[in-house]
Amino acid sequence: MKRRHAVIAGAGIGGLTAAAGLAQRGWSVEVHERAPVIRATGSGIYIGENGLRVLEAVGAYEETLDGGIRFYRRETRDHRNRTVGRYHWPPESGLRIHVVARERLVLALRNVAVKAGAEVFTGSEVVAAEPNGTVRLADGSERRGDLVIGADGVYSKTRESVGFPGRITSLNCGAIRAIVPRLPTDRDLPEDTYAEYWSGVRRVFYAPITANETYLALMTVDDDPEGTEEPPNLDAWCRSFPAIAPVLRRIVNPLRWTPFEQVKLERWHIGKVALLGDAAHAMSANLGQGGGTALMDGISLAENVSRTDDLEAGLNRWEERERPIVDRIQMVSNLYGKLSYWPTLPRYMALWAMNRSEWVKNIRTVASNYVPDGVDLARVGQAGKTG
Ligand SMILES: Cc1cc2nc3c(=O)[nH]c(=O)nc-3n(C[C@H](O)[C@H](O)[C@H](O)COP(=O)(O)OP(=O)(O)OC[C@H]3O[C@@H](n4cnc5c(N)ncnc54)[C@H](O)[C@@H]3O)c2cc1C
Repeated sequence: MKRRHAVIAGAGIGGLTAAAGLAQRGWSVEVHERAPVIRATGSGIYIGENGLRVLEAVGAYEETLDGGIRFYRRETRDHRNRTVGRYHWPPESGLRIHVVARERLVLALRNVAVKAGAEVFTGSEVVAAEPNGTVRLADGSERRGDLVIGADGVYSKTRESVGFPGRITSLNCGAIRAIVPRLPTDRDLPEDTYAEYWSGVRRVFYAPITANETYLALMTVDDDPEGTEEPPNLDAWCRSFPAIAPVLRRIVNPLRWTPFEQVKLERWHIGKVALLGDAAHAMSANLGQGGGTALMDGISLAENVSRTDDLEAGLNRWEERERPIVDRIQMVSNLYGKLSYWPTLPRYMALWAMNRSEWVKNIRTVASNYVPDGVDLARVGQAGKTG
């Protein structure tokens, strides 16, 4: 079979995973990233078992997790710092969960993609794509691929230019993220625990990511004028979360307010163009699975289009495999966010019940248990088994 060529818009989590997966399967690959450098500073990212398996499969696991912390417990706490929910998965469960600096993840993916032969062009914006495989860049030049991947995020120009039918919806909430110093005095949570604190419509996702750093995501609804202020109104946030106020006070240079959007498309591929990650199915950050599903998409797409020289058949098979699980994760993530609008007492009762319900736990872990095409279970997951 003639060596096939892929043009990818966007060097984020999904685009770089697809680039690595395709290059490792013999494709020539070019990735166009509009940012001047591949960077993702100022934020952490939760990666569950499903995403970690993909990192192992493409060879980016060690570099991503180097120096990171493995978690065995999640706690849900209320505005008075009382634990309203606790979930424990022991090492022998095989379930791995890490929260790492996003920068580390993206650079590790870039490195494996480049090592496999992919070319990554920065400062190179894709302005349009066509179903026949033509990609137009902002500098006026054109590229052609046997496959074009739109991995250019929630406001994807690839999606818009090809005219994928579907909808982008605001979820009326969002987050401000920051990485702050972690001090020896931050002893509130046990060592292997991350937490979600709730207070009214506000939430803080709190996870140490290294011995010296803690990742914070301050989430609230759009109609919380104090909570959505930029730079963040730390007095207001500390009033809501007095137990972690000393940590919140360390926030300097946070990322900008990021709204949660949902993308729902009728289909993920048209002609030679496929969309993946946020471009295809952006979701709220409530389950921490937007990046996980982008990783799954990337490897599964690479595997399915490489198994056959019939591109349409490969893309159909990819979407048939991925879509049911991704749709389900997106739906549950959206439902979880609706708790923000519940009155305090019923919300805590719901959180309490959810942390005890096997059914809810199964839904939450449905993503973690998923094995996308391109991941050989016999070769990955060893770290999970040994703890
Ligand atoms: C507050 C918040 C917290 C989150 N926390 C988590 C979490 O803990 N775990 C998790 O799994 N997910 C999380 N997510 C979701 C996750 O960030 C996304 O789902 C994930 O980044 C999607 O990856 P992607 O590669 O599809 O898109 P992106 O990461 O958005 O990457 C798209 C890339 O394309 C580039 N680009 C855009 N337009 C163009 C263009 N026209 N031409 C060229 N390049 C272009 C962008 O610069 C970017 O580099 C969170 C999201 C938010 C908002």
